[in-house]
Amino acid sequence: MQFFLDILLPIPLERLFTYRITEQEATIIQPGMRVAVPFGRSKIYTGMAFRVHQDAPLAYEAKEIYQILDDVPLVNQFQLKHWAWIANYYMCTLGEVFRAAMPGAFLLESETLILPNKESQIDELSLKDDEFLVFEALRHQSALKVGEISGIVDKKNVLPLVNRLVQKGVVLQKEELYEQYRPKLVRYVTLGEIYTSEEKLEELLQELSRAPKQSQVVLSLFQLQAETKKPIKVSDLEKESGSSHAVIKALIDKGVLEEYYIRTDRVNHGSESSNVGDVIFNEHQNKALAHIRTGFQEQKTVLLHGVTSSGKTEVYFKLIQECLEQGKQVLYLLPEIALTSQMINRLQQYFGSKVSVYHSKYSIHERVEVWNNVLANADKAQIVIGARSSLLLPYKHLGLIIVDEEHESSFKQFDPAPRYHARDAGIVLAKLHEANCILGSATPSIESMENAKKGKYAYAYMAQRYGNVLMPDINLVDIKEATRKKRMKGHFSETLYLAIAEALEEGEQIILFQNRRGFAPIVECTTCGHAAQCPNCDVSLTYHQHRNQLRCHYCGYHMALQNACQACGSHTLDKKGFGTEQIQEELKELFPDAAVGRMDLDTTRGKYAYEKIITAFEQQEMDILVGTQMVTKGLDFRNVGLVGIMNADTLLNFPDYRAHERSFQLLTQVAGRAGRTQKRGKVLVQTYNPYHQILQQVSTNDYDKMFAEQIYEREQFKYPPVVRIIKITLKDKDFNKLNEASEWLASSLRNVLGHQVLGPEYPPVGRIRREYLKNIIVKLPKRVAVDQTKNSIKRIEKTFNAISKYKSVRLVYNVDHI
Ligand code: ADP
Ligand code: ZN
Ligand code: ZN
Repeated sequence: MQFFLDILLPIPLERLFTYRITEQEATIIQPGMRVAVPFGRSKIYTGMAFRVHQDAPLAYEAKEIYQILDDVPLVNQFQLKHWAWIANYYMCTLGEVFRAAMPGAFLLESETLILPNKESQIDELSLKDDEFLVFEALRHQSALKVGEISGIVDKKNVLPLVNRLVQKGVVLQKEELYEQYRPKLVRYVTLGEIYTSEEKLEELLQELSRAPKQSQVVLSLFQLQAETKKPIKVSDLEKESGSSHAVIKALIDKGVLEEYYIRTDRVNHGSESSNVGDVIFNEHQNKALAHIRTGFQEQKTVLLHGVTSSGKTEVYFKLIQECLEQGKQVLYLLPEIALTSQMINRLQQYFGSKVSVYHSKYSIHERVEVWNNVLANADKAQIVIGARSSLLLPYKHLGLIIVDEEHESSFKQFDPAPRYHARDAGIVLAKLHEANCILGSATPSIESMENAKKGKYAYAYMAQRYGNVLMPDINLVDIKEATRKKRMKGHFSETLYLAIAEALEEGEQIILFQNRRGFAPIVECTTCGHAAQCPNCDVSLTYHQHRNQLRCHYCGYHMALQNACQACGSHTLDKKGFGTEQIQEELKELFPDAAVGRMDLDTTRGKYAYEKIITAFEQQEMDILVGTQMVTKGLDFRNVGLVGIMNADTLLNFPDYRAHERSFQLLTQVAGRAGRTQKRGKVLVQTYNPYHQILQQVSTNDYDKMFAEQIYEREQFKYPPVVRIIKITLKDKDFNKLNEASEWLASSLRNVLGHQVLGPEYPPVGRIRREYLKNIIVKLPKRVAVDQTKNSIKRIEKTFNAISKYKSVRLVYNVDHI
């Protein structure tokens, strides 16, 4: 009797591959175990066992597998069902989902690079012969491909050997290393509590009169406090008083001074308790909780709509607690960027070691560890907090999925496939596990709100900030008027300038939001109008001052800034528009004493860069933080008194049907950073168009009106959520071929699907990395069967692929493109 195994490979091919196995192997193998297999002429892959059967493949001679790599399945049935849904819905292959789901260490293949592990001490005698050969080879070479190791040990199947070497710590798999950032804490001092009265103080100075150095320190502390109204760093005090570490330490030991760290203070902020049982909900939270429970009973997804700082997170924690008591796992999904220490700290404070963090930036080994813990349903992994990819872990029985900041577009994967939306795929995963699912936001997406209005989702609302903290006071500043009256200092209106000065005076921190990074987006010649273009992409290059470079934001191309126009040679180059870098420069001139930081893609590229900026801001080493979108995400800065939006118009005018929705969300979120404590926060929005309906809605916090207007427009112009959108992008290096191919595809689609097919059209940037792009949009009314349409599209793709002259043209599907 012959036995065969269908195997899923991590490659973008539609079908499974069939291999030959022995009868004994057939009894051992279970679906979800990994298997090392040969592929093509010399490749080795790690695949996943799918199905054992006895039917020889007709089209090819089945090869034998190399080896079974696991004793128990690494992937469970819930995952397989969920992955199949993702592949089908988002029009990609199961292999692509498989590759996205597995930590790299689980998928060794012939192309994987192996490096010597320089950190570990290896006892050579403990190595087997073949292990030693590899160890030796890596003394002379900095890296080896797994495929090359085959040659060294003269064996075809080397994956088990490499796995052993990784486990013994002899070698490392090449990866982007990402270690956890542990911030260095800044020490602050203040006067001991008993010395706050004038009397006591007098006594103290009297007492210290015999210790002039010590009394100098106390006097300097006074002076600094009076001048800055801010927490005083130990290092500043040292400088100001001209005294040594030892003197300050002596005062601290005596209790005259007290030292503290702002970071720790933030974690245990004020009245907060560190035990879920102790938190007493206010009436709004209780009401919301009741609605949530009813929703769960009706087995509905629940939308929790609560203004910023209304106490949503506390509600989540209560639900998590209840879920844990039932012995079920919890998944807490966050959008990419907001996955910072803040939320993790808060979760860990409540739930201690039950929390695991899963993030694509974590090292391969950390990810493997979390995978194994989740698979084993270990105590450590009862709560998983993570971005998108944590949806794909091997949960045994999920009881609750929380999608925090559900409106964030970064929940949708853009590249590569699977181009899934984590919120929507999360809802499907919850259904598979019969788990509860809650979506939370201060500014729900139009589609989620529409689902709530239609009764598809249950709905809970919290309109007030917790603890009677007032909503920020949002004011619009007309910069057209200000410019006309010459009341602008650079890009700062007088109103904003004065507000910043006042906040600085009060010792409060300030966030300034500017939608663009870089200094001035383009450098244009005022004589001939030429702006330097990227040679690889259809965009103008952006000016970056600190490197004096022109850079492409799509492909990274850069060149030094030229003195003369490249087209006409004249020296009349003008920097148009403005970005974060320029705001930072202007601030240095306007407020020379303020410490100004910047957070954008350019300053957060390096290791830990993002965390460092956040920490510096939290620790109040910066007075003003200038940033792009990044500053709007779930950060909770207690000392922010003022938020300024430099120019709201660039957001509103973005050519996209979601521009208005996004502007509302973004401006509301960034405004929400202001005044999270008793003092009312202030927000100033600079604009040329203060009567714009979205700005009016932001300033009056009128979500309902925004929703009503947006949904009306979507109905008028047939955009989601009224229709579904499938975007098909065609890519090719040959301009003419691309045009011809996309015309062919569009008209074939139109033959079958009729008027729902739009395009082909060039995207705003029509060429990226030397490839031309064209989009075809398919709009599906909600009542049309999606599966049927997708099948039609796939059938047409088959015909398309059979046309030999279009062979080089690549097709990319993006279902529910946002
Ligand atoms: P959101 O998630 O809606 O932005 P949070 O849950 O972070 O709001 O709540 C805002 C602040 O109020 C936090 O400091 C939180 O600890 C506090 N808070 C919320 N609800 C309670 C409660 N019931 N008891 C005590 N503190 C609360
Ligand atoms: Zn010119
Ligand atoms: Zn480019």
